[in-house]
Amino acid sequence: MKTQNTLSFEYSYLNLPEKFYSFEYPQVFKYPEFVKINDKLCRNIGIDPENLVKLIDEIKSGSYNKKFFSQAYSGHQFGHFTNLGDGRALILGEHIIENGDRFDIQLKGSGRTVYARNGDGKATLKAMLREYLISEAMYNLGIPTSRSLAVLKTGEKVYREQENEGAAIFRLMKSHIRIGTFEYAANFCTKNDLKELAYYTIKRLYPELINEDNPIQSLLNKIIKIQVNLVSDWMRVGFIHGVMNTDNVALSGETFDYGPCAFMNYYNPATVYSSIDHFGRYAYGNQPRIIKWNLARFAETLLPILHDDENMAIQMAQNEINEFDKLWETEYYKKMLNKIGFETASPGLYFLIDDILKLMQKNYLDFTNTFFMLSNQEGREIISNKNDELKQWVKTWEKFIDDRGGFENSIPIMQKNNPIVIPRNHIVERALDEAIAGNTYLFENLLKKISNPYSYDIETDEYMNPPDFAFETSYQTFCGT
Ligand code: AMP
Ligand code: MG
Repeated sequence: MKTQNTLSFEYSYLNLPEKFYSFEYPQVFKYPEFVKINDKLCRNIGIDPENLVKLIDEIKSGSYNKKFFSQAYSGHQFGHFTNLGDGRALILGEHIIENGDRFDIQLKGSGRTVYARNGDGKATLKAMLREYLISEAMYNLGIPTSRSLAVLKTGEKVYREQENEGAAIFRLMKSHIRIGTFEYAANFCTKNDLKELAYYTIKRLYPELINEDNPIQSLLNKIIKIQVNLVSDWMRVGFIHGVMNTDNVALSGETFDYGPCAFMNYYNPATVYSSIDHFGRYAYGNQPRIIKWNLARFAETLLPILHDDENMAIQMAQNEINEFDKLWETEYYKKMLNKIGFETASPGLYFLIDDILKLMQKNYLDFTNTFFMLSNQEGREIISNKNDELKQWVKTWEKFIDDRGGFENSIPIMQKNNPIVIPRNHIVERALDEAIAGNTYLFENLLKKISNPYSYDIETDEYMNPPDFAFETSYQTFCGT
């Protein structure tokens, strides 16, 4: 794609009523230094990476003369409603790529905004490199996600129990509109404002819905489907978002807000790494229930504009939410059955997934490696020889595989759906600690490996081992660092 000489932005979001945003200016970083630039992504979207460097220079010298804005939103955090907003993030503008697609470019860690409440508006280098790494891993796993364009050190210190190097990240996303944006509109704006937001969202993200009989109902239906698709993808690769508050659910269906997220090693639906998630609300196995709960909050925000008759509106919203369980079941089992070699899912096969997961939990088996092992003869034998229950499961499964054309048909399906390399917590931690100390060798290598997560070579081995139990049971991740 042709790169532009200067960044040129559009600002369609700013056509919404003023209460949806606030104009802001980033803090002037004293000693900015880029530590990571996603050259390939920049070029793919027609941006010369030098322009990001130039932009930071212009902010520093005070010569940058375009707008920045933060978005207002609310949200249910751990089940409780609160008013929020971009506390440490600014949108630079909307970048349009060659095919006409529109993306927000956001700078996060750029200082306090009017929505910052008690936060300092800053971010640590470790957290921003972590976001870079995990979001790129998600992209390469084939899962919708925000992308990372660049990370820079700000030259300032950030305090999080101890002193840390400060940093900011440039992030790319189809849009940062979230369930929380609608909660804000429904709670603090007029019915007209809410309607404007809804139609803006439709035009921006799902323009094909505009001609439907009831575009608002169609939007609700679309968002349910898109989130079912997203969260079932997370389940497929063992991803735990960690902070599925409604303000962290994007209506574009992209994974975002990479705070306490992590990939599961040993299979256990109760797996939680987030230091503040004491009751496991956002545990791996709870993610489907939570997304349904979040979607119900979204449906509630739409009631005033779904139908003029309140009872009718409630009924319509309820009907859409009632569809969730069926949609989830179909999509989840389809993806999980792909992992064991079935192209199409039929309810008669679901028990194979339920059973292997139970056996994985009982036998402390690694989620990613077990599925990978099942896709090759040697691995199947190892799993099968562990004990009688696993042997029986493999035998039963093989019979179904035989009925459907044998492993010849099934192995390519398994290979497409079972990652071999995921960013494992113990390796991510080491890579980040070394990177912030100045040695980026492991960080770069891990990035290379997770760029090609479905393929195996001899160097892959060292990235495949789960951590020991001591690490696994004590590992914690953090929000807002
Ligand atoms: P998050 O956990 O990233 O979803 O953040 C929840 C809310 O806190 C959002 O409104 C964030 O913008 C805000 N926030 C998080 N960290 C900071 C910070 N260091 N300074 C200001 N606001 C923050
Ligand atoms: Mg957030």
